[in-house]
Amino acid sequence: MNKIPMTEKQKNQIEEIYWKWFSKRHLKTFMEIIEQDTTLKKIIDENLNITKDSIKAFLLADTKKLADIKKNIDDYADDINDESKKFILKRYGNFRKSQAAKIIDVLGILTCPYCNQNYINIVYDKEGKLQFRGDLDHYYNKSQYTAMAICLYNLIPACKVCNQIKSKTDKKIQNPYDSSYSSKIRFKTEFDDQGDIDYLQGKSQNFNIVIDKTNILETDNNEMDLFELEERYNNLKRNAQEIIIKAKAYDIQYKKFLEDKFDIDGEELEKYIFGYTDKHIDRELSRFNRDIMKEFRES
Ligand SMILES: [Zn+2]
Repeated sequence: MNKIPMTEKQKNQIEEIYWKWFSKRHLKTFMEIIEQDTTLKKIIDENLNITKDSIKAFLLADTKKLADIKKNIDDYADDINDESKKFILKRYGNFRKSQAAKIIDVLGILTCPYCNQNYINIVYDKEGKLQFRGDLDHYYNKSQYTAMAICLYNLIPACKVCNQIKSKTDKKIQNPYDSSYSSKIRFKTEFDDQGDIDYLQGKSQNFNIVIDKTNILETDNNEMDLFELEERYNNLKRNAQEIIIKAKAYDIQYKKFLEDKFDIDGEELEKYIFGYTDKHIDRELSRFNRDIMKEFRES
């Protein structure tokens, strides 16, 4: 639902963190392992040209390259050998424990990109070490695509609910690291079967929260189904009601007064009042808050 936005600087920073960790501690062994495994060799470089650079290119493959690698894996009849699998999964565990928090910190990801409902916590532990308390989802699952289980952009920070749901399916959804990705998911309210018009004034919770399917992409549709987004958001009637009341309370005149008082422009002010940001990924329910506000605010 939400992409993970990245500046060039952030991208360089996280790739540097990753490569420093891998090249210093694991590269040598990995090269030895690849030498013993023709399939893995082919997956990493189709021309079987295994160098430090080709390994780096594989581990830091962007979302487009990852899709190509996945296709190659699907085409090969052979699986990588057990030794390789063991090594990769162990390194993945190590990455999760020692590096994930640093990367999420650099990217400023605070909420789950799949649902935008739950926070992904990174915290300093008692020893002052940054720790990651969320889940890492393998965009391409690690049992079928074990070779990719340590590719940086295959590892999506996610909440436990979404990670658990996603592990049971291979429906095509967007990789949140895909920079060309722009979700068309929009939340809105509609009458339930009681047809209670009081809800439009924030006076009742007799309504439904749904996703507007007018411009929805196929991947959005899959995400909506998979992560049960409508069902999960339909529980947030109290939140929607609050937004409806705020939209009535902050009429044009009052907003103008606040804009002058805080010397802030109208759009900025709305972000504070209704609780949303441009990126969404750094604020829970951001997309929902913005959409419901747009439905009800005076403009
Ligand atoms: Zn989630």
